[in-house]
Amino acid sequence: MKNIIIFGAPGSGKGTYSAEIASRYGMGHISTGDVLRAEIKNGTELGRIAQGYIDNGQLIPDELMIDILASKYDSMPAGQGVIFDGFPRTIAQAEALKTMLAQRGHDLGMMIELIVGEDVLMERLLRRAKLEGRADDNEETIRKRFAVYHAQTEPLSRWFADEGIRHTFDWSICKTKEGMLDAIFKEIEKQNA
Ligand code: AMP
Repeated sequence: MKNIIIFGAPGSGKGTYSAEIASRYGMGHISTGDVLRAEIKNGTELGRIAQGYIDNGQLIPDELMIDILASKYDSMPAGQGVIFDGFPRTIAQAEALKTMLAQRGHDLGMMIELIVGEDVLMERLLRRAKLEGRADDNEETIRKRFAVYHAQTEPLSRWFADEGIRHTFDWSICKTKEGMLDAIFKEIEKQNA
C-alpha cells in the first residue's frame, strides 16, 4: 500500500479516519499527537518538553518532531504502508518527511485532506473535551489551535497539490462519516490499483 498523509484542521476526524483506513488495509498508523500524549503520560523528558507547547495550542519545534517521526517510522513493519496522522504540520516538516522517505527508497504516497467548516469543528472538539477530557480541548486552546492551523499548517495544502498528490473530501458534500469513508476508500483503491 502507498503511504497516506491525513491532513485537516483540529477536529476534522484525522484520528477516526486513520483508524478506519489502517484496519481496513492493514497499514501502520503514526499519530504524532498520540505519541506525544503517551510521552507525557509516561513522564519522560520529551513529554515534559511537549506538554508546555500542547497546553498552549502551539506546535512542538520542527527538529524535535522530525526526529520523533523518523524513529517511529523505522519501528513500523515494512512494506504495508504507513498513515501519517497529524504530521506534517509545517512546510519544513513536509520537506523533511519527503527527504526522510526518499533516503529509505520510499515516497509520500497520497495525501487525503478532510475539509470541515469551523462551526462543526468547534462543536466536535467541545464534545470530545467532555468525553475524553483532553487538556487542550477547551475553547481558548481550541481557538489558538485553529489560528496555528491557519497560519502554519493550511499553506501545506498547496504544497501537496503542487506535489500532485492531494485528494480532498468535503464533509458538507459527503454529510456522514460513512459517506466520507466510502469516498476515501474508493480513492485509496484507485491510487493503489
Ligand atoms: P493532535 O492530537 O494531532 O491534535 O496533536 C495535539 C498537539 O500535539 C498539537 O496541538 C501540537 O501541540 C502537538 N503536535 C502533534 N503533532 C505535531 C506536529 N506534527 N508538529 C508539531 N506539533 C505537533
